[in-house]
Amino acid sequence: MTTHPTLSDIDRYAGGDPGLDEATVWSIEVHLEGCADCRARLAGSTTAESRALIAEVAVAVDREIAAGPAPRRSHAGIRQRVLVVALLPWVAMTTTVLVTAALLSHLLPEMPSLVLLLAPLAPLPGVAAAWSRRLDPAWELIAGTPSAGLAMLLRRTAVVLALVIPVLAGFGAGQGELALMLLPCLAFTAATLLLGSLVGVHRAAIGLMVAWAAVVVAPSLATAELPVLLEPAATGAWAVATVALAALTLLRAGQFRRLTTF
Ligand SMILES: [Zn+2]
Repeated sequence: MTTHPTLSDIDRYAGGDPGLDEATVWSIEVHLEGCADCRARLAGSTTAESRALIAEVAVAVDREIAAGPAPRRSHAGIRQRVLVVALLPWVAMTTTVLVTAALLSHLLPEMPSLVLLLAPLAPLPGVAAAWSRRLDPAWELIAGTPSAGLAMLLRRTAVVLALVIPVLAGFGAGQGELALMLLPCLAFTAATLLLGSLVGVHRAAIGLMVAWAAVVVAPSLATAELPVLLEPAATGAWAVATVALAALTLLRAGQFRRLTTF
């Protein structure tokens, strides 16, 4: 943060003193954005004239609001539907990959289940897309609202999971591998959000997909054996990991403020 402006500078700024040069005004404004103390001092320095003007504006705004039409219902529902529609191509892509994986596993029964190997990654493209401003026609509006934080990311992630989990459940239920499909899928979703709080959700999703493909999927296909990580005995560990990652993500709630540019 820049150094606090002097009280006399704040007084002159509040009074609109034409003697203050542009650079000083600019540095005061930049400082005020980040310093609550100086904003409080500025509020104390406002002239009677400014206070009268603000009161006048407040009365006029109140009058216009009272005379205007009744407030319309919130657009949150419509926005949610727009988001679901925007996510459908990603879910369709994920479903196609999973169906292809299931077909390959059916044709090559000696290979480990590709669906099981890919299940942890299934929601990640959707989660990354849900946090992208390119997909969101209202991102400028969102960027300026207090809800542009973890709560919104969680709601959007829930939409993605609500679309992806039934697809996975459809594959898992038949093979008695439901917990081993859904728990890693939830753990990876939480890990994406947690890592996303450090490097951005988009990068986190790509990084985790590449890491899982390199460390688990490729060796499993090479050796034609499922890794210990995806044996039924690992179910408890996945449950613990999911809860721990979700708790850590909540602790980093303050880091989610902006949509990524991707
Ligand atoms: Zn200050």
